[in-house]
Amino acid sequence: MDSPSPDTAAARRHYFAFLPSLPLRLRKADEPLSAAATPPSDHRLQATVAKASEKVPTRSKPLRRGSLIGFAGLAWELLIFGSLALNLVAIALFASPSPSLDKGGTPPLGFDAEASVAEAALFGSPHSEGREEEIVPSEEISVSSTSGSRPASKDAMINLDHGDPTMYESFWKRMGHRGDITIAGWQGISYFSDVTNLCWFLEPEFDHEIRRLHRLVGNAVADGHYIVVGTGSTQLFQAALYALSPPDTPHPLSVVSASPYYSSYPAVTDYLRSGLYQWAGDASAFKGNIYIELVCSPNNPDGSIREAVLNSENGTIIHDLAYYWPQYTPITHAEDHDIMLFTVSKTTGHAGSRLGWALVKDKDVAKRMIKFVELNSIGVSKDSQFRAAKILKAISDGYEHPDPKNKYKLFDFAQLLMSLRWKKLREAVKVSGIFSLPEFQSSYCTFTGKRTETYPAFAWLKCEKEGVEDCESFLRSHKILSRNGKHFGAARKYVRISMLDRDETFDLFVERLSSLT
Ligand code: PMP
Repeated sequence: MDSPSPDTAAARRHYFAFLPSLPLRLRKADEPLSAAATPPSDHRLQATVAKASEKVPTRSKPLRRGSLIGFAGLAWELLIFGSLALNLVAIALFASPSPSLDKGGTPPLGFDAEASVAEAALFGSPHSEGREEEIVPSEEISVSSTSGSRPASKDAMINLDHGDPTMYESFWKRMGHRGDITIAGWQGISYFSDVTNLCWFLEPEFDHEIRRLHRLVGNAVADGHYIVVGTGSTQLFQAALYALSPPDTPHPLSVVSASPYYSSYPAVTDYLRSGLYQWAGDASAFKGNIYIELVCSPNNPDGSIREAVLNSENGTIIHDLAYYWPQYTPITHAEDHDIMLFTVSKTTGHAGSRLGWALVKDKDVAKRMIKFVELNSIGVSKDSQFRAAKILKAISDGYEHPDPKNKYKLFDFAQLLMSLRWKKLREAVKVSGIFSLPEFQSSYCTFTGKRTETYPAFAWLKCEKEGVEDCESFLRSHKILSRNGKHFGAARKYVRISMLDRDETFDLFVERLSSLT
């Protein structure tokens, strides 16, 4: 954060000599990136994948049977003898004080201690503030039998745990054939989309419509940025972590985000136990200079507009702008960051297409993200990209070439719906009297040309009822499924509730909520 002390700086030179290989702020990349970004021919593609799989460490080498049988008796004796000897050595070691420890059991001040102090200062240690953050197993966020479906009756379970954007179905029904596509059986067979593009698996039409939409809405600067397409922004998030992590790091790089943070960040960061990066919790509690900070704005779960909380020249930032669209928040300016992530899930509602895009300033970072997607899934579904290109085109056409026979405009539709829902929700909370919600300021929106309100995609609801410490359990006892605040690094008195479900589900939810006292 601040400039490091001389000791710390020396330690950094000593231990973290990899720094010059950081691609974004710290130039050269670890590998010939030209190879990474050049679209591989079929056999090169296979070779790349084969090379990657060669690196997978083999757990144990099989022993040769013949020699084992020949020396079985001798080996058995040696094993028993060796085991006895090892036990004796171990007992001796535990019984006598370790030469590297003083009487109090602390290591002598020197190499190791200084190294760990320097390490903690530079990398930070997860939860280094001594603040006990709850470790939440990702399995707790699960798909249930009610996920994605409508409540069958008035008393049925209402599932608003996931941010499933089904409220957009009614818009696309009204759009008729304008969002339809037909893909011939022979189309889109090749792996390759555009070999002249750095991102060789990006469909040109999708690229074109992404840039057009950002120009129309004015929410992000796309020109001068590379576009990297991904299987959802979830894949791009991982691609960005990979791209920003030094390849030869002795310690995984700390990944942080100010709480309450999007519940998938910890789980997605850690599920493969990468040697490159690891989740280190709440950014506000982080002590260290080297990190990746995730900034989600407007924030999932609480809808707040955010900026980075850390400020070190060796830190990097990923901006997750999934909700920076006019239906959720006033567009106040065009964001222009190094890495910005977007997703069709929350822009148009097409979560099932599994498509996201990243706007990336630095060419080397873009190349490494492309490399990740190449290794992880050899590109991204063309079928999805064809469809998404048509969907984005229909949205932009609605504003730029309005059809007198169909006046529906996505952002107008969604903003109106969100404003009605938030009104209903606030009324229900008032009637019930046992909950509270965050308040938001209105701002001038450059897209609508009006002062508009914030209508987040999620309600960050707090249970104020005396004796209720776990809001999620309380709501579940009334057949409302929400996501517990603990998954976001926050208290259990909070829950996140999706505002993006179908009308009938949402209406049933507010009706039930208002009846709780
Ligand atoms: N970032 C944020 C903040 C999100 O809320 C979501 C979806 N819930 C994603 C990323 C993932 O989006 P996608 O469906 O494109 O993987």
